[in-house]
Amino acid sequence: MTDTGWQQQLRQIRTEALAALDAIRQRAGMAVTSAPERETPTPPGQQVPGHAPAADGDRALDEWRVAYLGKKSALSQVLRQMGGLPPEERPRVGALVNEVRAELEQAYETVRRELHEQALARRLAEETIDVTLPGRSHARGAIHPLLRVIAEVEEIFLGMGYEIAEGNEVETDEYNFEMLNIPKDHPARDMQDTFYLSEELLLRTHTSAMQIRTMERMRPHAPVKVIAPGRVYRRDEDDATHSHAFMQIEGLYVDEGVRMSDLKGTLEAFARALFGPDQTVRLRPSFFPFTEPSAEVDVRCIHCGGSGCRVCKETGWIEILGAGMVHPKVLDGVGYDSRRFSGFAFGVGVERIAMLKYGIDDIRAFYQNDLRLLRQFARAL
Ligand SMILES: [Zn+2]
Repeated sequence: MTDTGWQQQLRQIRTEALAALDAIRQRAGMAVTSAPERETPTPPGQQVPGHAPAADGDRALDEWRVAYLGKKSALSQVLRQMGGLPPEERPRVGALVNEVRAELEQAYETVRRELHEQALARRLAEETIDVTLPGRSHARGAIHPLLRVIAEVEEIFLGMGYEIAEGNEVETDEYNFEMLNIPKDHPARDMQDTFYLSEELLLRTHTSAMQIRTMERMRPHAPVKVIAPGRVYRRDEDDATHSHAFMQIEGLYVDEGVRMSDLKGTLEAFARALFGPDQTVRLRPSFFPFTEPSAEVDVRCIHCGGSGCRVCKETGWIEILGAGMVHPKVLDGVGYDSRRFSGFAFGVGVERIAMLKYGIDDIRAFYQNDLRLLRQFARAL
């Protein structure tokens, strides 16, 4: 092969390679610049319609590098054929090959950088934040009225030095009934008969089981001052004032010398904190197997102030909880000496308080998740 033959072959390789590179640039939507011999280069900034995405450009560029600079490229083949040249010609041809290779490598680097910059620019453009867009509003939740009441009651009793305890919703017959002085054949069970999971396990019918669990933790002589809120279950037919599942807050205070007047004073302070400073409570005799004496506790009707209305059935009083002095049998049964210790217990119906406080007249409203009701509490937050 003659000298010009070499030159021609290399020039052809160079032209072909640069044209292929330009095709890649053009497909990626960039102006043609690296092939000055082209007659109508695309003006700078003008994009070729339907240009390939950046990833395609990267792939095409990789393929180009293999085809024109790789081991099997025409350039490499020229180098391999150099062995057949007369020794004095080799340096010149070698220098020429290197020159072309260097030019192609540089052209490759330029296009690679351009593609990279273009991809970056495109990503920045796509990710531009339009500050005139209205912001995304986050739907704000609300605390359910029952949980609000629990939180408020907890706050009041924490202020009086009570601890908060949490109990299991699944209880044993022993804790739910037996140790609260309600033996198996006791008629009080009929009023509460509930959801049994087995002979010995049931969904608790009251939070009073927590009295036993707490005293067991503190016996035989540490003072107990605790409230325990939670869900309880009974076999009630659901109607406007009954639900098979509802919330209670149990209260228990056991120490030496606790008297009925302490109970009344505590409940009066509670009622005033909850319903206002003019409140007063009234205790009516009642019966619970685990307290003696027992009482139903009323507050002045918060709707009519005591003069009588539809809500209080013209009595001027509204019942809010049951209470009493802890039965000596319960104290002794759990390991507190009833000759030395005494105490009181009470159970607040959370739904009842919430209905009074918020003027809700159907207990089912608490469980229906009607947004119209719940939203009112979102605003009140
Ligand atoms: Zn009233």
